[in-house]
Amino acid sequence: MIIVLRQGADPREVDQLTRMIEQQGVKVLPVAGEEMTTLSLLDDTTRVDRGLLESHRCVERLFHVVEPYKEANRMFHPGATEIAIGDTIVGSKKLAVMAGPCSVESIEQITQVARDVKSAGATALRGGAFKPRTSPYAFQGLQHQGIEMLCAAKEATGLPIVSEIMSPNDIDLFVDKVDCIQVGARNMQNYDLLRQLGQTRKPILLKRGLSATIEEWLMSAEYIMAGGNPNVILCERGIRTFETYTRNTIDLAAIPAVKKLSHLPIIVDPSHATGKWWMVAPLARAAVAAGADGLMIEVHNDPAHALCDGAQSIKPDVFTEVMADIRAIALAVGREV
Ligand code: PEP
Ligand code: MN
Repeated sequence: MIIVLRQGADPREVDQLTRMIEQQGVKVLPVAGEEMTTLSLLDDTTRVDRGLLESHRCVERLFHVVEPYKEANRMFHPGATEIAIGDTIVGSKKLAVMAGPCSVESIEQITQVARDVKSAGATALRGGAFKPRTSPYAFQGLQHQGIEMLCAAKEATGLPIVSEIMSPNDIDLFVDKVDCIQVGARNMQNYDLLRQLGQTRKPILLKRGLSATIEEWLMSAEYIMAGGNPNVILCERGIRTFETYTRNTIDLAAIPAVKKLSHLPIIVDPSHATGKWWMVAPLARAAVAAGADGLMIEVHNDPAHALCDGAQSIKPDVFTEVMADIRAIALAVGREV
């Protein structure tokens, strides 16, 4: 961080400011020029409160040179992080593909879809049991029963399971039963939930908030990691823009941006990003081409009767085609499926 001091600032105020910063374990290097004086704050400034600095009258302005997150920052962890979910190492050469229905609807449905996506090459089964619906009158998920059904589908196929948590009260249940805990877009800034997930060591799939900047998203990852859980996988699922043709706007630039800023793996969910089943294949291909570590795709055996997100769910035969397409693209970019 660099502080530009106000011209003619009272040296006693500058001394006071310098001491206050140094008390936080940060080195302060003053540089006095003809026109201006700056203070360079060296090393880890993540705990320094920018607003508090700006409240000092001797401060003209300040600039960040390091992002406000530390654990998630590639600068402090240059190597890429790899996270095991079942037999797949997310962030390795092999792509992670999590596929399954938006919601678990019945034991028959989830086991059938699990078998279908497994034979097409999926590496994990997704299925929502606790659903964050916009309307309180819409299907809210089978909840505890849904988790049991996912466990049965795991038993039947060997696929590890990914499911969304909504309340900190369910953490013990999820730690016990689920292989990867999904934090949905709507809960990306539920700091209480994030903090408590930081106390576990489970892989956490952290979806990007509906209107979250990349920095806000990485700060949410930081909440989990600061608690001691390093196993965070990011998921780009589209953001709100002025465009209404698609459900959200897929931000493919987030893939190289996250790769540059962070060491965490990033996967892409083209289903929620577009809201349209026929856009899933081209955007899955684009995500792999852009360097994503994997995909999350909604697959339903009967989308026309799905209890949630049927319009964006592909059928198992289309999923098989998507897997073939991404296999070819993965090879072209030095990855594999
Ligand atoms: C989901 O994965 O079904 C879901 C609700 O996703 P998002 O949180 O990205 O909207
Ligand atoms: Mn969904």
